[in-house]
Amino acid sequence: MGTIRIISLVVLCGVLNVTAQTPQSHKQIVIAASTVLDGKGGVLHDTRIVIEGSKIVRVDPNAAPVNYDLRGLTVLPGWIDSHVHITWSFGPDGKNAGAGGTTPYATYAAAANAYATLMAGFTTVQSVGSPNDLPLRDAIARGALPGPRILSSAEPLFGHNEQSGTPDEIRAFVRKQKEAGADLIKIFAAGSVRRPQMLLSQEQLNAACDEAKKLGLRTLVHAYKDAVRAAVLAGCTEVEHGPLATDDDLKLMVQKGVWLDPQAGLVMENYLLNKDKFAGTPGYPEEVFPTIKEMIPEFHSFFKQALKIPGLKIVFGSDAVAGSHGRNAEEFIDRVRDCGADPMSAMVSANSLAAEALGMTNQIGSIAPGLEADIVALEGDPIKDITAVRRVVFVMKGGAVYKNNR
Ligand SMILES: [Zn+2]
Repeated sequence: MGTIRIISLVVLCGVLNVTAQTPQSHKQIVIAASTVLDGKGGVLHDTRIVIEGSKIVRVDPNAAPVNYDLRGLTVLPGWIDSHVHITWSFGPDGKNAGAGGTTPYATYAAAANAYATLMAGFTTVQSVGSPNDLPLRDAIARGALPGPRILSSAEPLFGHNEQSGTPDEIRAFVRKQKEAGADLIKIFAAGSVRRPQMLLSQEQLNAACDEAKKLGLRTLVHAYKDAVRAAVLAGCTEVEHGPLATDDDLKLMVQKGVWLDPQAGLVMENYLLNKDKFAGTPGYPEEVFPTIKEMIPEFHSFFKQALKIPGLKIVFGSDAVAGSHGRNAEEFIDRVRDCGADPMSAMVSANSLAAEALGMTNQIGSIAPGLEADIVALEGDPIKDITAVRRVVFVMKGGAVYKNNR
């Protein structure tokens, strides 16, 4: 009987290799790799990563026995996407349904987005724009659903000029998000690249970012043009998008240690790719699509402008919406192929640099002892061919293997 039980367990584990494996004990797991990007710009060769429970305990070329042989692949820390809208989905009619749906359909769609994102090698995402993130974040955190670790902004602060409230009312709004369980605060401080005017005054922005800082929360500010400088002056943490900012604005960001998360293409390419699903839905009139197409080179030139500013901390954020979940890595390709970003810097921008931007350097973003075992493997070498980011064949998050398609 004992023998039969052992045999069935072995068979079961073999099957489970391709699905989620929650570590039951602190049993050691060893990954063998020929090439490891350490997440900080370094490359390790012919080594082994040792995992116990959810954590990496050491990197040791002599560790044995090997549980996962990932030689021939490129092994690196799970990616971090600093800007997604994880609940944003298409509805049952196939049309853009936004991020705020609360139907069972919308709920399952959001769970599917999370699963697709994890399978694409993203083990942590920051979701900025809907309080619907919160129950999904919590379900994934307790191991009930497969998905990336989610940080959520809960309800964002939408700039509506005076209607957004007095500084005191804005402070109260920020505190309310903290109470609702927000990990950060998202602020819409400007319109779009075509209508870049500020939607919050300097005073309102100061109140929002100052209150968040007092509560220990970071602030991500959707900004173009003048709103970029205003966000920096207000002491906010990170600027999202950013086009029409001047070199001087970007240099001020360096001085003040403010992060920049510009997009190089996926978000706009996705609107064009899924035009039939977005056109005619709220915010996406038919006539906006030619403009979206024209905007792509403008975002490229802003990205190139940002790359030339010494010391500017450019973090990875895809701005994934419906249609992009699971394709987040396309943004790497756009950054490297269309904007001339260095491929290793692009990888680091979604590993240790992104972890630093989240204040999570001690938990994620590198292959190092003591960190969460968030480990992915790609077919090919993204440093030589950035399209390798499309070929994620192995995904481990917190020591559990979710994908093993070697
Ligand atoms: Zn966004």
